[in-house]
Amino acid sequence: MNYKWIPVSLLILVGIGAAAPKPSADLLILNAHIVTMDTKHPAATAAAIQGNHFVWIGESSEASHRFPKAQSIDLHGATVLPGIIDAHTHLIELGKSLIRLNLKGVANEQEAVERVKQRVSSAAPNEWILGWGWDEGKWASHYPDNHALSDVSPNNPVFLVGLHTFAAWANKRALELSGITKDTQDPAGGRILRDEKTGEPTGILLNHAQDLVEKHIPPMTLEQTEQALALAAQECIRSGLTSVHEAKVSAIMIDAFRDMIRQNRMPLRIYGMLDGSDSALVSQWLRRGPEIDPNHHLTVRAFKLFADGALGSRGAALLQPYSDAPQTRGTFITPEPAVYDLTRRSLQKGFQVCTHAIGDAANRTVLDAYARALSEVPQAHDPRLRIEHAQVLAPEDILRFAKLGVIASMQPVHATSDMGWAEQRLGPQRIKGAYAWRSVLQTGAHLPLSSDFPGETLNPFYGIYAAITRQDPQGNPPGGWYPDQRLTLDEALRGYTVEAAYAEFEERSKGSIEPGKLADFIVISDDITKLAPRDILSIRVLKTFVGGQLVFDTEAKQ
Ligand SMILES: [Zn+2]
Repeated sequence: MNYKWIPVSLLILVGIGAAAPKPSADLLILNAHIVTMDTKHPAATAAAIQGNHFVWIGESSEASHRFPKAQSIDLHGATVLPGIIDAHTHLIELGKSLIRLNLKGVANEQEAVERVKQRVSSAAPNEWILGWGWDEGKWASHYPDNHALSDVSPNNPVFLVGLHTFAAWANKRALELSGITKDTQDPAGGRILRDEKTGEPTGILLNHAQDLVEKHIPPMTLEQTEQALALAAQECIRSGLTSVHEAKVSAIMIDAFRDMIRQNRMPLRIYGMLDGSDSALVSQWLRRGPEIDPNHHLTVRAFKLFADGALGSRGAALLQPYSDAPQTRGTFITPEPAVYDLTRRSLQKGFQVCTHAIGDAANRTVLDAYARALSEVPQAHDPRLRIEHAQVLAPEDILRFAKLGVIASMQPVHATSDMGWAEQRLGPQRIKGAYAWRSVLQTGAHLPLSSDFPGETLNPFYGIYAAITRQDPQGNPPGGWYPDQRLTLDEALRGYTVEAAYAEFEERSKGSIEPGKLADFIVISDDITKLAPRDILSIRVLKTFVGGQLVFDTEAKQ
């Protein structure tokens, strides 16, 4: 448009209109206790929403006459928080566990076989019957064999993983398709249980022997992927999550997310970290560049790498040997040159890199790789590189997060899950730099928090409780485990809201309740700011709103 030709009077009108915009609203939230997480305006009792966004935050007494035409919801004093952003999740794994035949709580072999029989009756020819949840610990003294399973399912392969995934129970067809016979050797780290007389495999596979079958299970179809993601997303919105950072996304998952968003079947907002070990996926995305969704449904602008393994299984890479296994320092999965190389290419193309690092050697190596790449791509604008977990840090590395602008993406529940054995692995000195949220935060680094579900519960209030107490749900140990590292409630809430939004470059649109931001928020059962820490565990989510839409409501019939 050529502004020269616009009459002066019209310009004045436009000018006046722009100076004093009077927003209208579709929806008013009234009589609420709103914890906004906006430092300039931390509390309010009313909010006005138009379309997807908040347009006004203030007091209930003023709201109704400001917005006389809006529909309103009276919350009768209930507490409202910004929608929880879980900065490290595995939605697809949660979904897989929800679509498998659920055997949790089955009392005995007959009951499990009966459920398989029912499932087989509706299965397609040759379709794999996948289940999970029989208790391999409880049943260890009298494991079943494959006979009853094979009788009810002679043609469909059946593979039933135990509750803790240490054992699986297969039928004859599954063993055949996997080529497991009495001549098959036990794999490293696994055992094939065999009939004492005949030597034939019984159908029970322990630990890594499960992989022998798993690699023959066909990958999920697009339809199955969508079904799994839909079930997982429902769990999330019931728990108060409105956005997740999915920490390893494959090509089929991207197709599934796109489909579901198009068909309005994905209530969650997704920030995807592409699987950095899939070289075809990596080169495809480096060629095309990041995908930043102006509607904030699905943004793909990060790669996920694994520098090392886990501390419990001694796979975390340490600078010095394990205190309880002096012959090992753990193992690297992605060595420094590969982390550096992908980081350099990512910075050139505008991608973020999120690298899993547990051990102090892994964390140092990733910081080194990031520093090298950052110095070589000085034109990279606002890179926000992340380390996922940052679990064990050498004291001299803690400062480097803030210095390099590296985000420490940490999981409060990992500390309380691991506190029973972590010090045995690390000894009394190194443990001081482990799960050291406060030490990291004090340096000025960004600290988004997350659950890492389904390895841990997705309930964010459990995470907040763990962050502020460093205790298990029973209140142990008294006073908290290394309590100097506890966070305040405000710091923990920031971790699940504004800090998590920053970690996905969305701090202008998400993470707090303020005008102009997306209307993602939850209504909870209690005033979290007034509860004793233990009672935070009992908070229930009553309503979840995403983009001003009510996507979960305890009062609605589910
Ligand atoms: Zn993870």
